[in-house]
Amino acid sequence: MKQDFETVVREEMAWLSAYVRRKLSHGAWEDLVQEIFIKAFRAYDDYEETGKRRGWLARIADNTMKNYFTRQAPMPTLSLDLPDEDGDTLFYLAKDMETPEERMLEQEQIRQILQIVSRLSKTQRTVFSLRYMDGYSVSDISKRLGIPEGTVKSQSYYAIRNIRKELGISEQIRRDMMTCKEYYDVMLIHALRLLTGEKKKTAEEHLKTCKACADMVTALKNLIPKMQFGEDTTFSHFAILFPNEHLWLTGCRSYFPDYEKIKRYMDEHDGALPRGTINSGSDDCFELYNIYDEKGNALDCEVYRTKGHIDRVPKTLPYFAKNLWIYETFYMDWHGFDYKESKEAPGLFYGSMTNNLGVDAKSMLFHAVPKEAENIRIKRGNGVHDCSTYKFAYVDRYVADDDRIRLDYSFQIRET
Ligand SMILES: [Zn+2]
Repeated sequence: MKQDFETVVREEMAWLSAYVRRKLSHGAWEDLVQEIFIKAFRAYDDYEETGKRRGWLARIADNTMKNYFTRQAPMPTLSLDLPDEDGDTLFYLAKDMETPEERMLEQEQIRQILQIVSRLSKTQRTVFSLRYMDGYSVSDISKRLGIPEGTVKSQSYYAIRNIRKELGISEQIRRDMMTCKEYYDVMLIHALRLLTGEKKKTAEEHLKTCKACADMVTALKNLIPKMQFGEDTTFSHFAILFPNEHLWLTGCRSYFPDYEKIKRYMDEHDGALPRGTINSGSDDCFELYNIYDEKGNALDCEVYRTKGHIDRVPKTLPYFAKNLWIYETFYMDWHGFDYKESKEAPGLFYGSMTNNLGVDAKSMLFHAVPKEAENIRIKRGNGVHDCSTYKFAYVDRYVADDDRIRLDYSFQIRET
């Protein structure tokens, strides 16, 4: 009876390792064993069980070893946590295993990965094996299968993500990859071109595999130059909402009072902030990421919690030193800002947003709507900025400290 391939690997690993080591005077026998099993796995569908399994494996092994010293290009590096030169991420079967325990772990991992690959969807399995088992480039696979390069990349990404998930390698512990939520934290800073160094590299790595984040930051980069701020000395504020992603990006420019003074005031006034103080207040349903200054540095903040409300006051800014911008990102754990579809007219959506700042300010609100949106109507607003991947309905004006600014809009999405 023909066994599943996982069993073959388990039963023949020791034998095959010994076979390869006997024939090899030098070189990385572990790499070869790995490669032989990968080739065997690819051919296993056509293998008929006649009781001569080791003979069949030995032929694959001999061919592989013959090619080992003659071929020009090595197999692509298999790495679970390092991006390759195409920006893709490969699965890693450790090479420098020294102890027998480590080797056993490695063999176990090969077995697990092959098992997971055999369960992937057909497209993912095909793309993955062409890319990482046969070593074809992204553009070769694209031509061979007649699918766009972007699809090849996304299918390998999904395959790797599935393998990782099943191997229990969480997205968070990978050094070189960001999750969407981690990217949200720096998205605005990135769009403002303030992100630098290693963080910028990993952020851009994320965008190669995440279309949603890439679309948002492209839209932001288009939108920011169109935003009109007040005089350099006025308090200015903006809020940009991506309702589908529950993302609320804000920035404000102000003089920042001395933290020690604020603290003294709060101690004397039952924890209340002095009027006009810049702080990042939010309700419990908002998750606030870091607050950044205008150079892109995350600010150290003191956090005050009162019933259902959180205030953050930056501790590191000098008293009246400068009129500074700070930027922040909120993740909203509720649907209050989603646009709604009209019950009477399917395809007609509407939404709104409001601010109340408690200070005199030049304020701007931007509400992202899908790029397919047509016939955008603004009830209390100025118009629409078309930013290619999104459109932004917006309103901007000076508001008094007891004033509210409100943006109401509707748009049509045609059935396609
Ligand atoms: Zn993302």
